[in-house]
Amino acid sequence: MTQAYKTTLSDVDPGIDDFETPRQGEAFLMTPGPLTTAYDVKAAMLRDWGTWDKEFRLVTAELQQRILSLLDGEREHYACVPIQGSGTFAVEAMLGSFIPPEATTLILVNGSYGKRAAKILDYMGRAYQTHGHGELLPIRGADVTAILDRDASLSHVFIVHCETSTGILNPLDEITAAVKAAGRKLLIDSVSAFGAMKVHFDHDVVEAVACSSNKCFEGVPGVGFVIARRAALDGPHHAHSLSLDLHDQWHYMNQTQQWRFTPPTHIVVAFLEALRQHESEGGQPGRQARYQANCDALISGMRSLGFRTLIDEAWLSPLIVGFHAPAHPAYDFTRFYEGLKHRGFIIYPGKQTEIESFRIGCMGRLNPAIMKRFVTTVRATLDELGVDDASPDDNILAAIAVKN
Ligand SMILES: *Cc1c(COP(=O)(O)O)cnc(C)c1O
Repeated sequence: MTQAYKTTLSDVDPGIDDFETPRQGEAFLMTPGPLTTAYDVKAAMLRDWGTWDKEFRLVTAELQQRILSLLDGEREHYACVPIQGSGTFAVEAMLGSFIPPEATTLILVNGSYGKRAAKILDYMGRAYQTHGHGELLPIRGADVTAILDRDASLSHVFIVHCETSTGILNPLDEITAAVKAAGRKLLIDSVSAFGAMKVHFDHDVVEAVACSSNKCFEGVPGVGFVIARRAALDGPHHAHSLSLDLHDQWHYMNQTQQWRFTPPTHIVVAFLEALRQHESEGGQPGRQARYQANCDALISGMRSLGFRTLIDEAWLSPLIVGFHAPAHPAYDFTRFYEGLKHRGFIIYPGKQTEIESFRIGCMGRLNPAIMKRFVTTVRATLDELGVDDASPDDNILAAIAVKN
C-alpha cells in the first residue's frame, strides 16, 4: 500500500526517495499548515475507535505523556490539556482560561497571529494593550521591560513565538526573562514552533503555551493542546466559553480519562503516530535540524534566482520564509501559484503582509532534496511567465531599510 504513495518524482530525484512522498497527483504542501504528512500518519486513521473504550483512553494518556516528556524545564509543574479544533481554538481556550476577566494583558504584535489574539480578547471583552514595531521587526525584551515598568496594571503578557505570517522568530528567551523580572505571567502562542524550536518552561513566568497537531509535529489538523501550569489549572476558572474551558476539560479528563465532548478520534490517533515519529527523528533537536536544512536549501536556491527574504537574516525562522514578490513586470502571483501547483507544489495562496510577498513553509514531511526540487520548479514556472530575474523592487528594499 505504501507503494501507492510513491510518486514518479523519486525517479528524477533520488534524494526524495528516502521520504514517503505524496500520492500520484497529490501535491507537496509548502504551506504553513496543514502540511505534507507521512504515510504512516495518514494510515493511522484507517480505524474507528470507541471513545469510552479503554484503548482510546490509553491513546489520550500516551499523547499527554509524550508531549510532557518533550518539555525543556520544570516538567512536574505542567500538564497537557488537549482540546478539539485547530490552533486558534487552543489559543482562544488558553486566553479565556488563564486571563482573569479583570486583568489587562500586554499583547506583543508583529503580524497577523498577534492581531488575532487581540481580536479574541475583543470578543471576550477583556482589556489589553498592544506593542510592536510593525511586521518586519522582532519584539525585544528591553521594550517589554520598559512597558511593564511604566504600567503596573499589566498583569499578563502574550507573545507569538514564530509569527507565521512573515516567518519572523521572536526572541522568546529574551521576552521570557523580561516578563519574569517584572513579575508578570507569560502566555505563548507556539502553534507554529513547538516541537521544532526550544521553549523553556520556567514555572515562575510561563503560565501556558498553546500548540496544535498539524505544524511542527506533522500530524493532521483538528486537535490542539495547551501546556499549562498545574497550579493555574487548580486555580480559579475564568473561561468565557464552555467548549473552550481548559479547567473543565482538564478536571474531567483527570477524573474519567476521557474528553468532555466527542474527540476527533482519527486525528488524535494520527497525532500519536506523528509524536512517535517525532521521537524517532530525535525529538525537538532532530526536527529543528531537518527544518534548518530545508530552510537553508530553500533560501540559497531562491537567492540564486534573485529572490530576497522579507525578514532580516538575524530573525529568520527555519519554519517558514517570506519572500518579496519579484519586481519584473511579467510576474503575476496567480499565474505563479497555478504554475507551481500544476508542477506538484502548493504554496499559500496569498499574502498576510502589507508588502507584496509570499511565504514558503519548510515544515512537514519535506527534506532538502524536495526543497531543491521546489526551487527548480520555481525556476521553470518563472521561465514560463517570462521572468528572468526574481529580484524585488529596489525602492521597496530601500524604504524598509530606512524604516528599520
Ligand atoms: C497556524 C497558527 C495558528 C492557528 O491557526 P489555525 O488556522 O487555527 O490552525 C495560531 N498561531 C500561529 C502562530 C500559527 O502559525
